[in-house]
Amino acid sequence: MLFVVSGPSGAGKDTVVDALRNRMPQLRYSVSATTRAPRSGEIPGVSYFFVARDEFERARERGEFLETKEYNGNLYGTPRSFVEQTLGEGYDIVMKPEVNGALAIKRAFPAAVLVFLLPDKFSYLQQRLAERRTESQEEIAARLAIADREYAAIPNFDYVVINEQAPAVREDLPAVDDLEAIVRAERFRIHHYNDSDLKLLRES
Ligand code: 5GP
Repeated sequence: MLFVVSGPSGAGKDTVVDALRNRMPQLRYSVSATTRAPRSGEIPGVSYFFVARDEFERARERGEFLETKEYNGNLYGTPRSFVEQTLGEGYDIVMKPEVNGALAIKRAFPAAVLVFLLPDKFSYLQQRLAERRTESQEEIAARLAIADREYAAIPNFDYVVINEQAPAVREDLPAVDDLEAIVRAERFRIHHYNDSDLKLLRES
């Protein structure tokens, strides 16, 4: 299964998805490519594949991305081969693209489970972006304007998870419990059982 955690910048996608991966280590994470410069602490190949713009564009022309999006002046994309291969091997994947990317993933994989993560108040987005000190004032303003448009896409998602203001212990965020509950519940959906599975359960 493909779990797509999206939502506006500053909603806490990175924190929540990192905590989910710690709890569910069997979930594979799809590392995106980007033309954005690395922030301090980001590890190439782990946080992102950091690539030059021309390299990204050539890969896009070769069809190597499932979806790409220009976000605030930088290109981001989901590498196709990792997703197709990993799903083929039977693993579940989690990824965290922005909202248009999430909708594009749903078009490519209609069975993808789309989760929209948002804070309990819109004004917290600004607060969180300011606190993490990785964006300039202009960039924060641009991200908030994008967030305003992203909220309009909520009805196209399967789930909404509200990430309340972070308590001290990040692993204990209620939003991580909620996300874990979604992953667990989705695994019990009847369409994951084929006729022979059900026959075996009945006749064994
Ligand atoms: P950031 O620069 O803060 O790491 O990411 C900016 C935005 O791009 C975030 O909303 C993030 O979720 C999104 N993003 C990261 N990777 C991808 C991707 O592969 N595809 C798309 N469409 N968005 C992405």
